[in-house]
Amino acid sequence: MQDRDHGLAARAAALDAADPIAHARSRFDLPPGIIYLDGNSLGALPACVPDAVAEVVRQQWGTDLIASWNSHDWWDAPLRAGNAVGRLIGAAPGQVAVGDSTSVNLFKCYVAAARMRPGRQVVLSDPGVFSTDQYVLEGAARLAGLQIVHAGPDDMPAVLAERGHEVALVSVSQVDYRTGELWDLPALTRAAHEVGALCLWDLCHSAGVVEVGLDEHEADLAVGCGYKYLNGGPGAPAFIYVPLRHQAAFDSPLTGWHGHARPFGMESGYRAATGIARTRVGTPPLLSLLALESALTAYEGLDLAQVRRKSLSLTGFFLDCVRELVPDVVVATPVEDARRGSQVALRHEHAFGVVQALIARGVIGDFRERDIVRMGFAPLYLSHEDTLAAALHLRDVLDAGEHLAERFASRATVT
Ligand SMILES: *Cc1c(COP(=O)(O)O)cnc(C)c1O
Repeated sequence: MQDRDHGLAARAAALDAADPIAHARSRFDLPPGIIYLDGNSLGALPACVPDAVAEVVRQQWGTDLIASWNSHDWWDAPLRAGNAVGRLIGAAPGQVAVGDSTSVNLFKCYVAAARMRPGRQVVLSDPGVFSTDQYVLEGAARLAGLQIVHAGPDDMPAVLAERGHEVALVSVSQVDYRTGELWDLPALTRAAHEVGALCLWDLCHSAGVVEVGLDEHEADLAVGCGYKYLNGGPGAPAFIYVPLRHQAAFDSPLTGWHGHARPFGMESGYRAATGIARTRVGTPPLLSLLALESALTAYEGLDLAQVRRKSLSLTGFFLDCVRELVPDVVVATPVEDARRGSQVALRHEHAFGVVQALIARGVIGDFRERDIVRMGFAPLYLSHEDTLAAALHLRDVLDAGEHLAERFASRATVT
């Protein structure tokens, strides 16, 4: 391998030896022989979670039963987990709640934002955003009488300059789920504020890997998934951020009893709770919620600046590996650090086959329409050595034409 790896193995070893968060790898259970590059779809299992969930099931549910709502403080779990997520996205306590899905939280935000900017009808949204963000916006727009105007994040400032007075909300995903491009949260938030609009950030692909700084940059609203880089497990509840300054005006369209000022008062009419609790709807999925709360302890003692540096180091090194080992492959992800999230996307006409052939070799990434090979780099459990090994497998797949094999042509439901 020595003559064919362009000194990459020595670089990987040096980078790993100098990695200040390499110890975090031991906080995860990953099967041997696997290089897991799909932590942006379903984060790996933190080693602490199975025992935590077993305790919740056997002791809290099985033995303590209904008393657990008080004795194990199930009631406040959405806000407790919310504060833990808040630490990772730059939100002071009392501004993040965990519950529902990202789709549902988007709905709350779209409608609440429209109600916070009466008289303004336009929502400015990226047409390339993840499907559910678009679909939910369509439904919310129909209900709230909003007009959707499409513009990519690059073009949003121009649209705001022209018709900013009509814009209620600018809605952006901080990291593009396909290309991995990182958009400028401080600048776009400022541009929205300059015309009196609000800015909503979808953090699904940035929470836990990017220094988001929601409070610092005066973000208005944010949502994100619990099961991607936050490692909360399949179907983990999502989070919603409403800063203190907007909480009194945040009028959620989903007025369930957990968001009521007196949930057990059983009053005849709805009165929203004060604070972030007003974003709550109904009884949360506690097994998933408490699994996520346990999973978040994998970040204990880690500073997001360190995590971000490691993430950039992994993706930057992978880009170097691609350039050296498979120079013909087209890279869809920006090479500048400031414009890159925590994934690298490659374009290939047989992208689906490439992903399948890599999976057969134990390198797990995923395929996204139409021609994207997507590789997520979770800085807590990946090394530069893993990164190089993934690139070497990619080279070998392409050299041997393994991606063209008949058995890699048929698609399962989830790609
Ligand atoms: C993963 C993801 C979602 C997922 O939404 P769910 O409601 O959890 O299915 C939404 N938006 C973006 C941008 C995502 O990446």
